[in-house]
Amino acid sequence: MCRLGGDEFIFILPDTGADGAAQVASKLVAAISRPYLIGHNELSTTPSIGIAIYPEDGADMETLARNADVAMYQVKRLGRNDFRFFTREMQAHSARALMLSSALHHALERDQLSICYQPQVSLQDGRVIGAEALLRWQHPDLGPIAPAEFIRIAESNGLILPIGAWVLRNALAQGRRWIDEGLPPLMMAVNLSAVQFRHPDLPALVDQIVDESGFPADRVELELTEAVAMDDPETAVRVLDRLAARGIGMAIDDFGTGYSSLSYLKRFNVRKLKIDQSFVRDITVDPDDKAIVTAIINLAYSLGMRTIAEGVETDGQLDFLRLQGCDEVQGYHFSKPLPAQAFADYVRMIEARCGRV
Ligand code: C2E
Ligand code: MG
Ligand code: MG
Repeated sequence: MCRLGGDEFIFILPDTGADGAAQVASKLVAAISRPYLIGHNELSTTPSIGIAIYPEDGADMETLARNADVAMYQVKRLGRNDFRFFTREMQAHSARALMLSSALHHALERDQLSICYQPQVSLQDGRVIGAEALLRWQHPDLGPIAPAEFIRIAESNGLILPIGAWVLRNALAQGRRWIDEGLPPLMMAVNLSAVQFRHPDLPALVDQIVDESGFPADRVELELTEAVAMDDPETAVRVLDRLAARGIGMAIDDFGTGYSSLSYLKRFNVRKLKIDQSFVRDITVDPDDKAIVTAIINLAYSLGMRTIAEGVETDGQLDFLRLQGCDEVQGYHFSKPLPAQAFADYVRMIEARCGRV
């Protein structure tokens, strides 16, 4: 056994197969995670163990240690206090993550990033009242890469800060152009990552970008996921107040998937709850989802917030949401996220249909 440094140790188990390694690992987890007393304080540690097997997972110490490390990080991500064997999928995953991470460093300067806009529609009159800016990355060799994959990587290597600022600046510039082109007034919703939200300069940066854009502050809406808002709610209250003082609106994204403290929710300076698409999907058939969505709409109403449902794909979902008094909807039923020009065409088409051009 050796200590690598900090809280990392390596065990070498010669002449032991996978079963033996699993047995040792589970005994280690049980022993290390047992609570102990220091003075009057009960303390506990949460070990994470990754296992790599010679020679399948590596022919030398360095490769074995690296692969065990990959497996260990998987355990940490999944909640600690456990062990896991290294697998090829983990390797493919981490090799791809490394590659994407280095490719992302050049994505901005090489013009590989763009923004699509998804219409947000009022259920009152069917008009487009806003756009959600959604980031797109088109890599010349790898093709399009989903934000669900690369945003996480940009958060871990810090690139989310310049990229997030770029998205806000460009989306607001686009919003300004639409005003100049005579499009009806629209809200511009932009997603904020946890890393951006926790950065102490965020309010000042948002101020500056909004000022420079010439886009009205009270038409800017920042989307923050429920999990991030509730992670450090005291700080969130302060940051949300600062942004609200400038007239900037906030929406809580993916609402229903995190754990909201209702007492904080009440204190949050938030305009809108965005009902997560996982509840909307089966809304016409699943009584639990019906109940959850109805409860969220009522909760928002009593807190003086609006609701928007995301991922609306069918007439049935739309009818249910309308009946329950949901304010706005967004989803493929209306339109996929569109490039700027196509979005403007879409808005004009809807306006013409409403007889307002
Ligand atoms: P989100 O903010 O919850 O965005 C909604 C996602 O649902 C988008 O996926 C959108 O394309 C997709 N969607 C919209 N309507 C439908 C529908 O009817 N059915 C289905 N199945 N999906 C629909 P997308 O563009 O892949 O983005 C995924 C996530 O990546 C976003 O979730 C957001 O969390 C994040 N993201 C995207 N752009 C940015 C950005 O500029 N900054 C940050 N920090 N995160 C971003
Ligand atoms: Mg969003
Ligand atoms: Mg969402």
